[in-house]
Amino acid sequence: MQLFEWDGSFITGNSLVDDQHEQLVNLINRFGKSLSNSESPATSSIDDVCTELIDYANLHFREEERLMASTGLDKRHLLEHHKQHEDLISQIGPMRQLVLVGDLAASKYMFEFLVNWLVFHILGTDMLMARQMRAIEGGVASEEAYLVEEAESKTNRQLLSSVKKLLHQVSQRNNMLAALNNNLEQQVEERTIALTKANNRLTELASTDALTGLMNRRAFMEEAQAKFKLAKRYQRLLSFLMIDIDHFKKVNDTYGHQAGDIALVETSKIIKNCLRETDVLGRIGGEEFAVLLPETGLNQTTELTGRLLEQVSSTKIKIDVCRKISLTISVGVATVPPLSMNVDTVIKEADKALYKAKSEGRNRCCFAAT
Ligand code: GH3
Ligand code: MG
Ligand code: MG
Repeated sequence: MQLFEWDGSFITGNSLVDDQHEQLVNLINRFGKSLSNSESPATSSIDDVCTELIDYANLHFREEERLMASTGLDKRHLLEHHKQHEDLISQIGPMRQLVLVGDLAASKYMFEFLVNWLVFHILGTDMLMARQMRAIEGGVASEEAYLVEEAESKTNRQLLSSVKKLLHQVSQRNNMLAALNNNLEQQVEERTIALTKANNRLTELASTDALTGLMNRRAFMEEAQAKFKLAKRYQRLLSFLMIDIDHFKKVNDTYGHQAGDIALVETSKIIKNCLRETDVLGRIGGEEFAVLLPETGLNQTTELTGRLLEQVSSTKIKIDVCRKISLTISVGVATVPPLSMNVDTVIKEADKALYKAKSEGRNRCCFAAT
């Protein structure tokens, strides 16, 4: 990278301005060197020198503008000069953000932009300023000094005006790039949110039974494993119910599959309403449900199953505009203790108990043999 080569052609003749320019050039070159030395971006030395450089540029611009005002330079020059300072500051803001996030290519681009801007600014605008200041100090009126410079340096001015336009174009490109970059970041953020939502929805779908909205078999079994682990670790009570609707095939055969679906949904609601918030209910097969009752022993479970049988058999389920039906369920129960704390054993025992309830006439609850 080409560093800023400071030589006599940059001397304006005003010692304060020249000293500060030299200081600014040194800082820019330090920034450039730290970039060439760096293999990896975002080293703290790059950030530090960049911060120092921007702070110093701000200070120098303020001092130069104060000097121009106190010398009494023509307002038109003051305004134009001030605008150029402002432009630079507003340009380096977005570039600096890229330096801070460690974008080495953007940092090098910023360095080259600063070198070219300063060459243009000192040779053009600052020289104009210095000549006008000398003229005023020699007794020429501000306006005259301004107009003389305007007329005398016509060719130079055309050249400078072209460079200025080019710099302006570069500035606009910088702004466009910064805007594009922001836009891209926003788009990535929006996509990430949409993906997370879609993922959550997929997880929900994968664990929910579409008809009843209850946990499906997979999700229920996962939850059961977790609840069993907890109960085992803390030696807590736990009961497990297997519920199966009685003669459900007949409902479909008599009233149709759609009526069967309604009956299934309504039955799931009746069961849910009998449970506590902390109980876990899932649909684990066609017309089969399973319930986990944490912190619940034999007595409380007996009470609950009595209520379940009663609620289901006494509820009239409306399956279409003019028909209502009643259903019954059979329930198999396994509780821990006395059974051992093993999910598979408990489920198997509850299943056996359910089979017993069916064979003993349905609409009843049986407990696992211990
Ligand atoms: P049991 O008292 O011995 O349990 O008799 P059952 O008729 O309830 O049992 P079976 O296993 O013979 O029949 C279950 C029926 O449940 C058959 C099947 O068509 C129906 N079924 C399963 N899933 C659904 C569903 O999602 N919707 C509807 N409408 N019916 C279903
Ligand atoms: Mg059944
Ligand atoms: Mg069945």
